[in-house]
Amino acid sequence: MGKITGFMEFQRQEESYLPPATRLKNYAEFVIPLTNEQAKVQGARCMDCGIPFCNNGCPVNNIIPDWNDLVYRGNYREALDTLHSTNNFPEFTGRICPAPCESACTLGISEDPVGIKSIEHKIIDEGWEHGWVVPQPPSKQTGKKVAVVGSGPAGLAAAQQLARAGHAVTVFEKADRVGGLLRYGIPDFKMEKSHIDRRVKQMEAEGVTFRTSVLIGKDFPANVNNWAKETIFPEDLQKDFDAVVLAGGSESPRDLPVPGRELKGVHFAMDFLPQQNKVNAGDKVKDQIKATGKHVVVIGGGDTGSDCVGTSNRHGAASVTQFELMPMPPEQENKSLVWPYWPTKLRTSSSHEEGCERDWAVATKRLEGKGGKVEKLIACRVEWKDGKMVEVPNSEFEMKADLVFLAMGFVSPVATILDAFAVDKDARGNAKATTDGDGCYKTSAAKVFAAGDMRRGQSLVVWAIREGRQCARAVDEFLMGSSELPR
Ligand SMILES: Cc1cc2nc3c(=O)[nH]c(=O)nc-3n(C[C@H](O)[C@H](O)[C@H](O)COP(=O)(O)OP(=O)(O)OC[C@H]3O[C@@H](n4cnc5c(N)ncnc54)[C@H](O)[C@@H]3O)c2cc1C
Ligand code: SF4
Repeated sequence: MGKITGFMEFQRQEESYLPPATRLKNYAEFVIPLTNEQAKVQGARCMDCGIPFCNNGCPVNNIIPDWNDLVYRGNYREALDTLHSTNNFPEFTGRICPAPCESACTLGISEDPVGIKSIEHKIIDEGWEHGWVVPQPPSKQTGKKVAVVGSGPAGLAAAQQLARAGHAVTVFEKADRVGGLLRYGIPDFKMEKSHIDRRVKQMEAEGVTFRTSVLIGKDFPANVNNWAKETIFPEDLQKDFDAVVLAGGSESPRDLPVPGRELKGVHFAMDFLPQQNKVNAGDKVKDQIKATGKHVVVIGGGDTGSDCVGTSNRHGAASVTQFELMPMPPEQENKSLVWPYWPTKLRTSSSHEEGCERDWAVATKRLEGKGGKVEKLIACRVEWKDGKMVEVPNSEFEMKADLVFLAMGFVSPVATILDAFAVDKDARGNAKATTDGDGCYKTSAAKVFAAGDMRRGQSLVVWAIREGRQCARAVDEFLMGSSELPR
């Protein structure tokens, strides 16, 4: 434990942000990490409470009290090793994880929780800065070949673990760059893409081969991004590799089947966000969807919607409004009822702070326009009674809309990919596989495993990393009979 009385002496200190007017000028990250002194004080607040609920609240089970103590003592080298022992990519989670660990912090029952995520961010930044993050190639090769389909956090975590276990790993990605939603989806201002590039270099030095612009499958739907230039059939992959990990994410977007949906100017969020990632990477994007000078309506109150808000404001939108179907959650949770679980409460993202009208319990009825182009959105207010949505009488209203972004989440993975592998699906259309016991992460298809959003449905980066790591162990056991990879 750091400082015995630390939790009584010191307050929580959040990472600060550059002011909105500055950060809206570009797509760069704007979080100002803690200084060494601030991180030390934050680490000192950890009570080492005996039963570290934070460690359980964190999906990768980061050993938080240990590295809090090490940071308090200024021992960043050991803190990094402890952090890496459970998390392959803390620079991703230290930036964009919503930090369920902090909702589970014992100090959080009576005070503000320890700033766990900011300490994680600090440790890994120190690690890269000091050159401590280096390739860890295996001491010997097993002669086994593993294909990983999809290069999001689940695929990357699985690939890194399997390569370190001595297997020859090839990652196939249909996009032109590695990273999944970390690369194309999550805006650069939340996470700059150089963080992925240096991990890719590390993984290549550990023996991982990346093949981009390659689709594994047969048919592919038009409503999901596919920039592949080459297609490999699943049966060929299964022939050439000893095991296959499906980590293709949950890419089928939820649509809005209302009159006017076909109008120009109505787009899925994932048509909009990746374009800006590409432009930031220096690519030319033909007919980029631009929000400049437009009245933008974002339908969907989650992370994806918030990212559309931040990107629209950086384009210079005339106005940005975000609608959510569910009622507005309470500003504060009742800790005695919900701790140590992730509470439902009002969350205001940095993008919201940059300028956005938010409205809740609103349902879109139709979209109207002229000359085939959307001009307004007609909506009504709704109430939820016995779990059913009911329209509030005479509540219809209209809103000017030159651009409408559909950010209502993802229904499931692309079914044709799972069908092409003859993988059984669960009731929600995800790849069916359990996460514990014999045969965990194994699908119904011979030597085919599944992890991340493709198995659990749309989720979080930290869950994808967990599943990638655990799936790697299951594959290693399948190939070798036993595994020394962590569970
Ligand atoms: C806009 C947006 C913002 C988000 N923000 C956050 C956030 O701030 N914090 C957070 O924790 N989570 C966030 N999420 C969720 C998070 O990004 C996902 O849960 C996570 O990326 C899932 O990881 P994954 O590896 O399972 O899949 P993905 O990241 O979706 O990666 C799957 C990859 O597989 C590729 N692929 C699919 N099928 C094939 C195929 N047949 N052949 C070849 N390649 C294929 C895809 O092109 C893709 O690159 C966000 C999601 C979105 C959409
Ligand atoms: S990965 Fe997320 S939940 Fe885990 S310690 Fe980091 S911020 Fe907390």
